[in-house]
Amino acid sequence: MSAADERPVRRRFEDGTTIEDLRTYMAPFVATLGFRFNDDEEFVEEVLESELEILDRDGDVFCPCRVRTGDPKEDVKIVCPCIPFYLDQFSAMRKCWCGLFVRIDVEDGSKLHGVIEVPEGPVEVRVVAVEDLADGQGRVVTVGKKKLALFRADGEFYCLANVCKHWGAPLGEGYLDGYFAMCPWHGWRFDVRDGTTDHPDADVRVYEVTVRHGEVFVTV
Ligand code: SF4
Repeated sequence: MSAADERPVRRRFEDGTTIEDLRTYMAPFVATLGFRFNDDEEFVEEVLESELEILDRDGDVFCPCRVRTGDPKEDVKIVCPCIPFYLDQFSAMRKCWCGLFVRIDVEDGSKLHGVIEVPEGPVEVRVVAVEDLADGQGRVVTVGKKKLALFRADGEFYCLANVCKHWGAPLGEGYLDGYFAMCPWHGWRFDVRDGTTDHPDADVRVYEVTVRHGEVFVTV
């Protein structure tokens, strides 16, 4: 079962919802995405209180720092926690727009107040917890709109483009033979350390992987 499958189901909040109710729902949900509440408790209380006022007035916990468009299909993207819609940007910023949540590896989230620019260039995105992928296994992970193949060989994590250049099979669904990922459709072998294969012009791209605090990050 993937981390996404384990996420608590989003429920609509009712009258009488408390800050504690929001915390209880949000903390495990954002943890599956590699985020946690900011360290600044006072700030967290203020933001959650604003969300409760918005819930009372407008029927859902819309983001206190974003402007609604009036189009329900658009506005659902700013119901808190909106992290799944902006995972790339928030991973790059290491926080959500409001700063209610910070990336799990941030040491002191209170220092990120006011940071609103999305840095340009490569971005580290948390993909799984170390314990989510056993040694000798692979899986497909999603980073924004991109699917990547993540493998764990001899204890180390490796990440490749997910598409086999033969017939487009998802490499992350293949199996590992030592350091070689076997394509699930026709068995082409790819070295997970450098993406190379014996077949001409069929090497696949390799992505840098970093492990910190028990979490696996891929640089895209
Ligand atoms: S930016 Fe932060 S506070 Fe605002 S909705 Fe998204 S997750 Fe919630």
